[in-house]
Amino acid sequence: MEFKKIQLNGFKSFADKTNFLIEEGLTGIVGPNGCGKSNIVEAIRFGLGEVSAKQLRGKEIDDLIFNGTDNRPSWNLAEVGLFVNIEDTDLENKFESKSLEIARKIWRGEGTNSYINGKEVRLKDIQLLFADASTSARSTSIVSQGRIGAITQAKPEDRKMVLEEAAGILGLQSRRHDSELRLKAA
Ligand code: ATP
Ligand code: MG
Repeated sequence: MEFKKIQLNGFKSFADKTNFLIEEGLTGIVGPNGCGKSNIVEAIRFGLGEVSAKQLRGKEIDDLIFNGTDNRPSWNLAEVGLFVNIEDTDLENKFESKSLEIARKIWRGEGTNSYINGKEVRLKDIQLLFADASTSARSTSIVSQGRIGAITQAKPEDRKMVLEEAAGILGLQSRRHDSELRLKAA
């Protein structure tokens, strides 16, 4: 799975539709303090299925929607699209497509919707898709400030998560958790 493009529209400081192309090689984002670099990373984490506004420096999910400036009104909708190439992966057969657009929208006061290639899906479908690809909103492949220390000093259970992710079985663990909940309910 290869990330090709991140599209933001009304997400945090990105009032207008903005595309970030991820070309081959290393991509860096450079800019003055407060220009929105961390907002881009948070948009990716939101697109990967993060549900906690606090993890994205907001009090509630609506804080992720562009909230206006002195001369622009606030928006009522924020969109994040992750464009990934799935050529030559198991997903290519499953989705009968060489690429996927994974999108999430936040409607002010009304919550969020999730889409894969334009079709509405459950948030869980997006989370499982990325968990199976060994990446997720809380993935160790997204290293934010302070995370290195958190991993080296982690409790054994937390470190187990890191190892399970590296082993590519996070998706299985998540399904197991769901099955256990269903068993308990039964
Ligand atoms: P630094 O170099 O200091 O880490 P940065 O480039 O990472 O800065 P961010 O933290 O991504 O910058 O961006 C912060 C800016 O985003 C602030 O100016 C803040 O007002 C703006 N911002 C955050 N949420 C929203 C929102 N909902 N609507 C509009 N602007 C927002
Ligand atoms: Mg920053």
